[in-house]
Amino acid sequence: MEQYDVVVIGAGPAGYVAAIRAAQLGLKTACVDMFAGKDGKAALGGTCLNVGCIPSKALLDSSRQFHNLTHAFAVHGISAKDAAIDVGTMVGRKDKIVKQFTGGIAMLFKQNKVTPYFGKGRLLPGRQVEVTGADGARQVLTATNVILATGSVPIELPFAKFDGKYIVDNAGALDFAATPKRLGVIGAGVIGLELGSVWKRLGSDVTIIEALPEFLAAADADVAKTAAREFAKQGLKIELGAKLSKAEVKGAEVHLTYSAKDGEKSLVVDKLLVAVGRRAYTEGVLAGDTGVQTDERGRVVVDDHCWTGVEGVWAIGDCVRGPMLAHKGSEEGVMVAELIAGKAGHINFDTIPWVIYTEPEVAWVGKTEAQCKADNIPFKTGSFPFAAIGRAVAMNEPAGFVKVIAHAETDRILGVHLVGANVSELVAECVVAMEFKGAAEDLARIVHAHPTLSEAVHEAALAVDKRAIHKAN
Ligand code: NAD
Repeated sequence: MEQYDVVVIGAGPAGYVAAIRAAQLGLKTACVDMFAGKDGKAALGGTCLNVGCIPSKALLDSSRQFHNLTHAFAVHGISAKDAAIDVGTMVGRKDKIVKQFTGGIAMLFKQNKVTPYFGKGRLLPGRQVEVTGADGARQVLTATNVILATGSVPIELPFAKFDGKYIVDNAGALDFAATPKRLGVIGAGVIGLELGSVWKRLGSDVTIIEALPEFLAAADADVAKTAAREFAKQGLKIELGAKLSKAEVKGAEVHLTYSAKDGEKSLVVDKLLVAVGRRAYTEGVLAGDTGVQTDERGRVVVDDHCWTGVEGVWAIGDCVRGPMLAHKGSEEGVMVAELIAGKAGHINFDTIPWVIYTEPEVAWVGKTEAQCKADNIPFKTGSFPFAAIGRAVAMNEPAGFVKVIAHAETDRILGVHLVGANVSELVAECVVAMEFKGAAEDLARIVHAHPTLSEAVHEAALAVDKRAIHKAN
């Protein structure tokens, strides 16, 4: 029986990062994963690399280029006749990027001496891990520490079951052979908006059906309002307060029935993407008597340091509480590896950035105005629009703004909310400022390069003190 210091189950962004960090710290490490790529071979990287963050960004970029060519370039004096998109080439490019990065993890494992095992991992009592290969062959590893990083899977609606052809999950919507004429999306969350945008830009008639009456309820209300306006301008139809009750495949169409604010409605689409959230994947991962607890949502129960309460057993990423974000899982992985190695491991859950890669992009860190109010925290805000930022206008990207929320008495930054071009990158500065317990005045005193989009962050921080330069306060 092979003995390791650390066995990680799952090679997604939580698990593979934990394995690499553990190996860097001199621990004998193995990582078990069962994900097979399109060629049937092991494909490390989990949902993020195979069917999540990376492939969706590849398609978002391709579709953005096409959309700009057909809709946005005219203003620059650029015209193109007979612009066309070959979906097969676009998807092929995405697959190549995925392969490059999944192969990259295999290389990193080799360089760091992490031993990969291809198969389904299952925790047995006594910190043993059973690995079952696709051919049913079993082997058992023993470990001083086991890290569960088994991720999450899409939630399936009982009345709209995935068939992989007409009713699909995120993975299916990354692999359409052609642009669907009509695309229905259930759920106006991160996946629905990102993948809805991809196919809308390529010419689909996209309708998004969202159960909640409020759009992007987790985001700051002003950001959500601006994002909704911009998405509507792009022709994305978003129906709020609408609940799907039936989805029937008839011929090559999907017939939807849903209850909307104004009564029962029906819609016929060519493809239906169901993106109503994900759930922790823990089925068959824990033998009955390991002592590891799961909650009512199937998540592994852990403390702030991702310890399960069972000696030497930890859990990280989407299979535990907290937001299902790759970077949150990765940092939990680093923390656990460092704790195992006897170092101080730490993660600040209050400064985890959120990003939605639509156009405009949406990003935030920290509290919204609504959360400050609910928590009775006195606050002041400063906002600045990209329309008054020279670089944004020169880029023909004037939509959106930055809003800084600071404590009314101490000026400490409580949250920053951004909607606009490249805000996925701009939010990083705000995370740093918050991590160092910065005040709005700190951001305001920092020199920001001109002309850049980051000036909007600077001006919003100045606006907290009513001294923005390029707009009336
Ligand atoms: P989500 O939680 O972001 O959104 C799901 C949406 O579906 C919600 O708005 C919810 O109200 C709605 N909904 C639920 N049931 C419904 C129903 N029956 N009818 C209509 N609407 C319904 O989930 P997601 O978009 O599926 O994404 C899954 C997870 O993956 C999320 O946790 C997300 O954070 C993560 N993710 C993150 C990124 C990113 O960081 N850019 C990208 C993709 C996915």
